[in-house]
Amino acid sequence: MKQTVIVLGSTGSIGRQTLEVLQMHRDRFTLLGLCADRDSETLRKQAAEWKPKYVACRENADRTAYPDGTELLTGEDASARIAAIPCDVAVLAISGFAALKPLLAAIPNGKRIAIANKESLVCGGDLVRKALNQYGAELIPIDSEQSALFQCLQNGRRSEVRRLILTASGGPFFRKTREECKNVSLREALNHPTWNMGRKITLDSATLFNKGLEIIEASRLFGFGADQIGVLIHPQSIVHSMVEYCDGSVIANLAVPDMRLPIQYALTYPERIGSPVNALDLIASHDLEFFAADPGRFGALRLAYDALRTEGGCPIVYNGANEQAASCYFANQIGFTEIETCVEAALEAYVPHPITSIEAIWDADAEARALVRQFVERKKQ
Ligand code: MG
Repeated sequence: MKQTVIVLGSTGSIGRQTLEVLQMHRDRFTLLGLCADRDSETLRKQAAEWKPKYVACRENADRTAYPDGTELLTGEDASARIAAIPCDVAVLAISGFAALKPLLAAIPNGKRIAIANKESLVCGGDLVRKALNQYGAELIPIDSEQSALFQCLQNGRRSEVRRLILTASGGPFFRKTREECKNVSLREALNHPTWNMGRKITLDSATLFNKGLEIIEASRLFGFGADQIGVLIHPQSIVHSMVEYCDGSVIANLAVPDMRLPIQYALTYPERIGSPVNALDLIASHDLEFFAADPGRFGALRLAYDALRTEGGCPIVYNGANEQAASCYFANQIGFTEIETCVEAALEAYVPHPITSIEAIWDADAEARALVRQFVERKKQ
């Protein structure tokens, strides 16, 4: 029996690579649905090629552009509606906080959710965990570092783990001082040394907010606290992350940086099958370097640890403020280092309180965005 797959965020970087993986394994998988936010042109081409049963597009949806026999879902909640359709694997490759609704919609119906989105886990916290337990859904990470940790964690018991070590490429600026980073241009910020990704995550890699989100994401996925999650800068992105066990053994996951590998593993786990990813040549890879990622120097990491320790909605504010500050940076309203200043200001102004409902998540997110907008407005005056 072939497994049915729905790809949410199919026109983005991870979505397109997911389709490449599915294309290579048509004997194992059937594409049941495709979902995009706005890029109807790419979605239309994908639908013409795959003829899926369902297509969802929030904007610019034109029924006549899709194959006969394909059901078209449109509007604000299109992604949540397609996510609720029963399937074997839902691939969640939507970017940002917008993935939380489809994640919650997929949990009761997706047997497995292969998740590339970190914001929904960071913000969904306990509510996502409870829903997963209630419906017995399985969450398998696609994010390269989390996939690495997931693989390394299979080498011992949970109680034997001393700490998780996330690696970070450090982005293009980690050798620069804070002062030198002040006026880096958008073009420089979007020039990632090892990965070719969407622009929000590329910016997050340059500011290290991506790594901050991954600290919280790792805690959500694997249930370890802030004190058991460390970060190492590793510019080559060959070691994707490591787990240190109580006896001092460190299990690392190494591979050529190619997202098709963690995508495929999330689809086929616990099985491994052949892939087009190049074999790792450690002799040609030259030196593997590691540097301390000092939370004192990298505010994005310090703020993430603080938010995770405090909880009370702080991770939601950390994420929401960063998303808002990133849009302000893209709109040329603030400078590069001010992204961090905005997030810090929002976290300082926010009063932590228990988050016990989905509405409370939306409220904390909206508050974070409003706090950043106020901060940016005040700056203009
Ligand atoms: Mg990552």
